[in-house]
Amino acid sequence: MTAELISVGTEILLGKIVNTNARFLAERCAEMGLCVYHQTVVGDNEERLAEAFRTALDRSDVVILTGGLGPTEDDLTRETCAKVLELPLEEDPHTRERIEEYFKNSTFKEIPDSNWRQAMVPRGARVLDNDNGTAPGLILEKDGKTAVLLPGPPGELYPMFTEQVYPYLSGSQPARIVSQMVKLCGVGESKAESQIQDLIDAQTNPTIATYAGVGEVHVHITARVSGDEDADKLIKPLVKEIKKRFGTAVYTTREEETLEMAVVRLLKKYELTVTTAESCTGGLLAGRIVNVPGASEVFQQGFVTYSNKAKRKLLDVNKATLKKYGAVSKETAKEMATGGVFAADADTCVAITGLAGPDGGTEEKPVGLVYIACYMNDHVTVEKYQFKGDRAKIREQSVVRGLDLLRRCILENYAK
Ligand code: ATP
Repeated sequence: MTAELISVGTEILLGKIVNTNARFLAERCAEMGLCVYHQTVVGDNEERLAEAFRTALDRSDVVILTGGLGPTEDDLTRETCAKVLELPLEEDPHTRERIEEYFKNSTFKEIPDSNWRQAMVPRGARVLDNDNGTAPGLILEKDGKTAVLLPGPPGELYPMFTEQVYPYLSGSQPARIVSQMVKLCGVGESKAESQIQDLIDAQTNPTIATYAGVGEVHVHITARVSGDEDADKLIKPLVKEIKKRFGTAVYTTREEETLEMAVVRLLKKYELTVTTAESCTGGLLAGRIVNVPGASEVFQQGFVTYSNKAKRKLLDVNKATLKKYGAVSKETAKEMATGGVFAADADTCVAITGLAGPDGGTEEKPVGLVYIACYMNDHVTVEKYQFKGDRAKIREQSVVRGLDLLRRCILENYAK
């Protein structure tokens, strides 16, 4: 079954408000297994709204409209839809009573005449009570098509949709959408995509799509299943195949699990404590770890050592190393990681030193050059990166790589 969204409001067309209603409704439709192929935004203009509504009715089974149900002259949705569907407007006594009740309980005791317009509903409409405003929602059915008219304010629309429209539409909708995520770190989006291109090309149900985040790629597998069909049967073989292809680059298959959550999970599993020794990221890495509830079990202390003096004082980095190789070097990163482990009495340490810019780069050491080291079991692994982007982006990428290096070191050392 297909659904289509029409957002009514000149404010949306002018970019004065963000169309968050469309996002909310599109997500709910996907959950219900309704296919949304079109979304339209149309201003407060009767002719153009009528045209958009007619077009939507022609090609979709369900048309959901939001906005334009208010009491003012430019709120045209109810009248326009009634005209297109050739349904006369009639007063709904229940809505009239509700409007009276609403005003009794509000600070405005006088009911403006214009509000009575909201009690006029197309003949045969199913009226949806609005507990947070005066405009009722409406469900209109004609010639096998359904139109759902909802108020624009999200505070009115969300509860109305969740409590009244969702059960109504899902009752007439046997299919549902089930999705699963495979999250990868350390592989670029185009490389990730090319490694599963054959699966993407062959997709029908489930479908596969990749999304890129900072330093991460998420592969979404989405299946459309009917009532009693087992979604796992469709999804699990694909997840297995994708995991096989990407190996340890897969850090989780749980949608809600972030990279730092996966790292903390592994640290807990192998009973390891970690510390951080950060220069250019200035505590961002420690912050990401502490984001995870229960991080205190594995993280007691981190070091922000921005200056050379701090690196020497807190992490015991050799003066000669700093002089000979510089603060942004493999050697310094290595000593920071080692120094961190001993200073914090932890099992492992991730150190980050680099040039986040925008100034300070040279030909030999350009902005974006970052060394990341991980001390584990008397061995230090150091990786060199040349990141692109502004200061914030370079620091963010450094943190993601730091977390991922730690994750890979744990897997190499312990998951045998
Ligand atoms: P009202 O009774 O408040 O007039 P309405 O149904 O006529 O409601 P509109 O007048 O179109 O709705 O919009 C009222 C407010 O609702 C807008 O100013 C805006 O804040 C919010 N709104 C409307 N449409 C959207 C949308 N698509 N996404 C997010 N917010 C919206």
